[in-house]
Amino acid sequence: MQQLAPEQRAFVEAVRDFARRECGTREQREALTDHGREPHNQELYTRIAELGWVGVAIPERYGGGGGGAVDMCLLCEEFSRGQIPMGFFPITMMAAKPVERFATEALKDELLTGIVAGRVEAIAMSEPEAGSDVANVSCRAERVDGGYVIDGQKTWITGAHAAAHILLVCRTARGSDKHQGLSMISVPAGADGLEVRGIETMGGREVNDLFFTDCFIPAERLVGHEGEGWRQLMAGLNNERLIISAQALGMAERAFEDVLTYVKERRQFGRPIGTFQAIAHRLADLATEIEATRLLVYDLAARVDADPETLHPRQASMCKLKATELAKRTTLEGMQMMGGAGYAVEYEMERQVRASLVTPIYGGTSEIQREIIARSFGLG
Ligand SMILES: Cc1cc2nc3c(=O)[nH]c(=O)nc-3n(C[C@H](O)[C@H](O)[C@H](O)COP(=O)(O)OP(=O)(O)OC[C@H]3O[C@@H](n4cnc5c(N)ncnc54)[C@H](O)[C@@H]3O)c2cc1C
Repeated sequence: MQQLAPEQRAFVEAVRDFARRECGTREQREALTDHGREPHNQELYTRIAELGWVGVAIPERYGGGGGGAVDMCLLCEEFSRGQIPMGFFPITMMAAKPVERFATEALKDELLTGIVAGRVEAIAMSEPEAGSDVANVSCRAERVDGGYVIDGQKTWITGAHAAAHILLVCRTARGSDKHQGLSMISVPAGADGLEVRGIETMGGREVNDLFFTDCFIPAERLVGHEGEGWRQLMAGLNNERLIISAQALGMAERAFEDVLTYVKERRQFGRPIGTFQAIAHRLADLATEIEATRLLVYDLAARVDADPETLHPRQASMCKLKATELAKRTTLEGMQMMGGAGYAVEYEMERQVRASLVTPIYGGTSEIQREIIARSFGLG
């Protein structure tokens, strides 16, 4: 942490202290998450918002802390590491960025001040036929007098059941290039013609299908310019990948710490299992990987803070690929090093495995990140 400013170090310490007090025991975490079924506890989240942390990276004129990418990453890393159930914070921050950059002042006031106060937001890009090929959007918004009428389906939408608004990426025109004719519209929760249906996953109550049927939304809720949705999405690329990377980094750190404690205590053949070289060297490797990943993530975050307008597609994809694959590897290795206890629900490593497995899938899979990195070298 030596590269952090004193106030950032103090912020990290405060979040760690909060995590110890509020979520430090298994019993506390079970109660806050309904035994692991709920990744997000709104009551706790509202208290965290009151501390000013949820708005750490929201501009001051909307009540936020006015911080940048490093501050946002610190919070994402620490809530993961401390297992604070604020599971819809990352997606809220992903939805916040296009609003902050492109929305009207009235929408910014409504959405950003709400986020600072602890409201959850969702962002809906994916569809049944638009997954990795995310520009292949067919959910349609037809221009009518005074607004848009939306028809179509979205899928895998994190936190939509808890969100105040959904930032919808939809098609307002169709041409020869699928990247053109996309727009962003802020859809309030509970809008007539919007149905939200939960999808069961390994991660509990997390994601949803959205069905739009003749759903009218006033024109003032257009975010940015009609037809500019793809450009606006791409402008948030650094932000989205950094958020997921920091979250995954925190997961890896937590799994590492938990397994380290375990291998020092668990004895076989008359000695702690951590003293066997086969275990000790794996932990040495993981510690090295975690440290390297941390440098990668915070180097990009610092670059974004120095110049928020410049996109870093290669580095952002490297961060996302490295941090999420490391979270998966650390939890799986953690499970193996804990033997049967790693597999048992009584310990939490199995839950950490489940949480980490999805990180190389959402926000663009590892295969897609490798494609982006390879293309940046003129390959493919
Ligand atoms: C828990 C969770 C939360 C999510 N939250 C959101 C959200 O809030 N908002 C939202 O819009 N979306 C969300 N998503 C959607 C997520 O971004 C997509 O699932 C992801 O982009 C992959 O799309 P897909 O599932 O359709 O898989 P597919 O695109 O069908 O991919 C299937 C497999 O094929 C591979 N593949 C596809 N194309 C290529 C290629 N060109 N080269 C090599 N391999 C390829 C993929 O890497 C993958 O392994 C979420 C998903 C999950 C699981």
